[in-house]
Amino acid sequence: MIVLEGRDRVGGRTWTADFGGAPIDLGAAWIHGTEGNPVADRARRHGIGWQPAEVVDATIAAFDPHTGPVSLADLVTYVATPQAGFEAAVGELRAILGPGASVARAIDLYVDRLGLAGAPRRWADFGLRQAIVELFYGGPADLSSLDSIFEDSEFPGGNQFPDGGYARLVDTLARGLDVRTGETVATVRWDEGGVEVETSRATHRGSHAIVTVPLGVLRADAIRFEPALPARVLARRREQLDDLLLGHPRRVPGLLRPVALHRPARPAVVLRR
Ligand SMILES: Cc1cc2nc3c(=O)[nH]c(=O)nc-3n(C[C@H](O)[C@H](O)[C@H](O)COP(=O)(O)OP(=O)(O)OC[C@H]3O[C@@H](n4cnc5c(N)ncnc54)[C@H](O)[C@@H]3O)c2cc1C
Repeated sequence: MIVLEGRDRVGGRTWTADFGGAPIDLGAAWIHGTEGNPVADRARRHGIGWQPAEVVDATIAAFDPHTGPVSLADLVTYVATPQAGFEAAVGELRAILGPGASVARAIDLYVDRLGLAGAPRRWADFGLRQAIVELFYGGPADLSSLDSIFEDSEFPGGNQFPDGGYARLVDTLARGLDVRTGETVATVRWDEGGVEVETSRATHRGSHAIVTVPLGVLRADAIRFEPALPARVLARRREQLDDLLLGHPRRVPGLLRPVALHRPARPAVVLRR
């Protein structure tokens, strides 16, 4: 088996950068839950420890471009508390707004009710719109359904940062595999007899191909399938594939003070509208 990877590294949307000797995750950082979670099981099997790190706690340093650093007390009051309050109020908000309402309408209503103004209002709005909907539910609040939010389930055990960064977990997955980095797949030809995969560097043949590229790559038709994949493989109709969206979380690393970084390094969160 060979793994074809377009970039010059493994990991995709997980990426641990070395920041003056401290590991900083620019992509995935949290193991979400430790009980029953295969990611946590893998970390245990490979002796990778973790540190508790919730979305709002002392591991977070926040900065509002309009007002400067945001204290942990303000984050708890104006971000974490409204987040918990919104989740508790979601049933009532559904009853008021009716079926099919967007999460954005519910956020507007909920934040209005909090009676906040200025920076605290912006932080509460950010905590809901960006730090819950866009980050965890994968799309903008105005295109996300109030009917479906908070209907998913989580592994128990809290959120954790793997020691040394997420790359350590990814490296255990890549170990022992024949990974060819810098090989972007352009075409996949297939028939009953097998597959032929043409990349930027070579042509590979095999019995099967497992395609794990992200939704955006499929939507952009960046890989040509010959013959075209049956509609049911991607979505029932092409338009349905176009309707599926991904959110745009971005991690912005930055040194908060010119002091030596400690481990685990503190991620910086920038509140930006
Ligand atoms: C900023 C950010 C924070 C996140 N935080 C968390 C978190 O804390 N916890 C968590 O569990 N998840 C988090 N996620 C989500 C997590 O990173 C993704 O769910 C996960 O990486 C998806 O894995 P994947 O293999 O499906 O896709 P990807 O990681 O995107 O990997 C797909 C790979 O396909 C390659 N590729 C694309 N096209 C081609 C081609 N034509 N030929 C060859 N290779 C190609 C890409 O280079 C990439 O390496 C976060 C994501 C982001 C962006």
